[in-house]
Amino acid sequence: MITSRYYGQFGGAFLPEILVATFNELVTAFNEAKNDPTFWQEYENIMSSYSCRPTPLTFAQNLTSHFGGARIYIKREDLNHTGAHKANNVMGQGLLVKRMGKTRVIAETGAGQHGVATATMAAKFGFKCTVYMGEVDVKRQRPNVFWMERLGAEVIPVKDGTRILKDAINEAFRDWVTNMDDTHYVLGTACGPHPFPEMVSYFQSIIGKEARKQIMEIEGRLPQRIYACVGGGSNALGIFSGFFDDPVELIGAEAGGKGLDTGRHASRLACKDGSPGVAQGYKTYFLQNSDGQMKETHSVAAGLDYVGVSPILAHLRDKGRVRFTAATDKEVLDALTLTIKKEGLIPALESAHAFAQAFKEASKMSKDDIILINQSGRGDKDIFTIADAFADPQWQAFIKNKAKEYGA
Ligand SMILES: *Cc1c(COP(=O)(O)O)cnc(C)c1O
Repeated sequence: MITSRYYGQFGGAFLPEILVATFNELVTAFNEAKNDPTFWQEYENIMSSYSCRPTPLTFAQNLTSHFGGARIYIKREDLNHTGAHKANNVMGQGLLVKRMGKTRVIAETGAGQHGVATATMAAKFGFKCTVYMGEVDVKRQRPNVFWMERLGAEVIPVKDGTRILKDAINEAFRDWVTNMDDTHYVLGTACGPHPFPEMVSYFQSIIGKEARKQIMEIEGRLPQRIYACVGGGSNALGIFSGFFDDPVELIGAEAGGKGLDTGRHASRLACKDGSPGVAQGYKTYFLQNSDGQMKETHSVAAGLDYVGVSPILAHLRDKGRVRFTAATDKEVLDALTLTIKKEGLIPALESAHAFAQAFKEASKMSKDDIILINQSGRGDKDIFTIADAFADPQWQAFIKNKAKEYGA
C-alpha cells in the first residue's frame, strides 16, 4: 500500500521492494504524528529550549541605506544550535524516531554539516549513530568529522564511485536495508523518496510560520519578496511555505558556480542544464547527461553542491510560483564581504547566495517595499572553507605554521 506522493510530475517513491515495508512504517508514523496536535507542541518546545527558537527577524538598517531601495529583513536561522536550519529537520525526525521506538539513526553527509546536526540530535536523544561520508569529503572536512566523533557517532568513509555525497547516500540506503528493524535514516534535505520531501518541509515550515507572524508584528504588512538559497531545497521550502497563499514573490537562489555558461555550477532550475529524471528514489530535475549519468557540480558552497533538487520546488518552478536565479561564486563572496562589514552578520556561503540575489534587486525596488532574506546558517563555524574561498594570505601562513608544528 505504499502511499506515494507526487507534486505535478515530480516526487514519487522509486524503491527496491525490500525497503517498501520500512517506508510504509515511516509514512504511517509521520501521518499519525502530523495529526496529533501534541506532537507539534512537543517539537516547538524542544526547539525553543534546545535550539533558540523562535529565531529573530533582524532589520538590516545599514544594508537598507546602502542600497537605498527596499527595507531588508533577515530571518536568523544561523542562531539555531549547530549553526543552521538543519537543526529543525534533525530534531523533528529525532522525535519521530522516539515515537517509532527505534534506537539507531544513520545519515549521509557531504560537507559534514548534516552529519554534525544528526550526531548532535543522537547524543541528545541517546541513539546510536552512524554517518556515511564520501572518502574525499572525510579528507576535506576534518573539523566536522572531529565533532561527529566527539559526539559519539561512527563516521564511515565511503570508498565507492566518486567518493562524495551521492555515494554516501547510496551506502546509507544499503545500511538501512540491512538494519531497518531498529534504524531510521535521517535524510538531510527535502529530496529523496516520499515521505522525505514532505516530512523535511513540514519540520522546516517552522521558519515560515514564525517569519510571517514576525513581519506582521513589526511592519503590519507582508513583504514583497522573499529570498532563500537552494541546495536540496529545505530552508527555501521552510520559509516559502509560510507565504504560499499570500501575494508574495518567492525567489530561490541556486549555485551559479563559475557561471551558468561554463557548465561548472549546480543550477538545476534557473537554467536549461537540468532535465527531468529518476534517481536516488525520486523524480526531479537533475544535472545529468543524455544517458542519465549524473554530472559533476561545482559551487563555493558545499551545501548547494548537489545534482538533484526537491521535487516540490521542481513543481513550484514549473507552476511559476517560485522564481529561480543563480548567484556566481564571485557574487557570493562580494555579498558576504558587504554583509559582514555593514551588519556584523556572518552568513554561511550557502546563505550568501540569497543575499547576493537580493542585493541585485533591492536598489531597484521602492523604499516602501519590504524584502526578507533567509540566513540559513552562520559562516564563522566554516572558517576553513570561507578563508580558503577568500584566499586570505595571513590565513594560509597560519595553516603552514600549524603544519610545521606537527612536523609536516
Ligand atoms: C545544508 C545547507 C544548505 C542547503 O540545504 P537546503 O536543503 O537547500 O536548505 C543551505 N544553507 C546552509 C547553511 C546549509 O548548511
